[in-house]
Amino acid sequence: MNVNERISAKVAKFRPSLTLALKTLVGEREAKKLPVYDFGVGETKGALDAGIRAAGEQAFREEHTMYSDPAGLPELRGAVLDWLNLRDHYGPENVIVSTGAKQSLFNIFLSVCNPADCVLFDAAPWVSYQPLAVASYAFPVMVLPLASPSRDLLKVSADDLNRNLDVRPHAKMFLVNSPCNPTAQVYSGEEIDALIQVCVERKVYFVLDRLYWRIMFDGDAYPEPTLNDEVKQWLIQVDGMSKNFRRTGGLRIGWTVGPTDLTKAMVNLQSHYTSGPATPTQRAALAAIERPYDVSMITELQAKRDLLRREAEGMPHVRIWPTPASFYSFWDVTGCFGRKTPDGTVLKNSDDVAEYLVTTCGVVTASGSGFMQNGYLRLSFATPEEDITRGMAAAHKVLGALA
Ligand code: PLP
Repeated sequence: MNVNERISAKVAKFRPSLTLALKTLVGEREAKKLPVYDFGVGETKGALDAGIRAAGEQAFREEHTMYSDPAGLPELRGAVLDWLNLRDHYGPENVIVSTGAKQSLFNIFLSVCNPADCVLFDAAPWVSYQPLAVASYAFPVMVLPLASPSRDLLKVSADDLNRNLDVRPHAKMFLVNSPCNPTAQVYSGEEIDALIQVCVERKVYFVLDRLYWRIMFDGDAYPEPTLNDEVKQWLIQVDGMSKNFRRTGGLRIGWTVGPTDLTKAMVNLQSHYTSGPATPTQRAALAAIERPYDVSMITELQAKRDLLRREAEGMPHVRIWPTPASFYSFWDVTGCFGRKTPDGTVLKNSDDVAEYLVTTCGVVTASGSGFMQNGYLRLSFATPEEDITRGMAAAHKVLGALA
């Protein structure tokens, strides 16, 4: 067997994420005891909520460790509907709980797409959409915003979607992430409804990845899609535990709310490959979402957003986007391209800028290349205040040194 045949052609093409490559550079700095300011990782920190921990501990103590319903615990599926305020529109037969939102998305791709079907993503797709789609033998295409009034913020309009669907008759779905990782932008209710309307007319699924939906700033509420019977045939909402609570990414719980027939197909599929997520963490998730939501994490993140904004004021060669939601600051760094570092290297793309920041001052970011948007960096501010203050001062200095 040829060495190249030992791994399937599709998986062999996957690149490790740049975040991992940056980790090596971080390791080198740490070994030399040089400072590191980590804005790279998209994960909430802080102490795990005592109620979530107690529910997990109790689940083990009471030995809730046997297989459960492959669709997820019935009481958790019911609680998901309350958490998303969807109880009046859907029943438990519309909910499936999975091993993180990643598996929710993989279930959708696998259950909706035939080989070579096209899936449309919005303009700065989160890093794993493409590998998950390709692993499902689907063909991913990014919709670029040309006709959108918000195109400068990489938001796609109904006209943009129609234009793409005209030339891609085999498109099976359109996937939007709002609030968006990496751009932090939020589609308004009108924008979402207009996109859904196109999908309903074209009989294309509309997938709304709303994993960051609770982390809305300045008192804004999450813009919910308007529901009716037709919309419910085509709308699939993806959410989960990973972002809206402190330290819960590793619980690996996500869920999908969607049409009954598709949900049934996904449960069938999931029953064959994970049998559903771990029972104790489903119980922990239930404890988290069935009580009133604690907004203290949002208040803290908003203060950190404001701190970063102040400390990054006047950052040389960088344009910083507004952050209405999530915990990401999105930086347009095209102003750095073509500039020379003090050692004479010319920065050509966002990977170069990310590498320059890590190696010269220990500021770790995620390069836009991972999100198919060269020209940008994503900075997570779910990080200690002193790192924000020191990290921004350090970035100021080295970006100011570019000629
Ligand atoms: N969707 C988005 C936009 C994400 O940012 C992530 C994780 O970073 C996921 C889905 C996957 O979430 P999970 O960790 O629950 O699998």
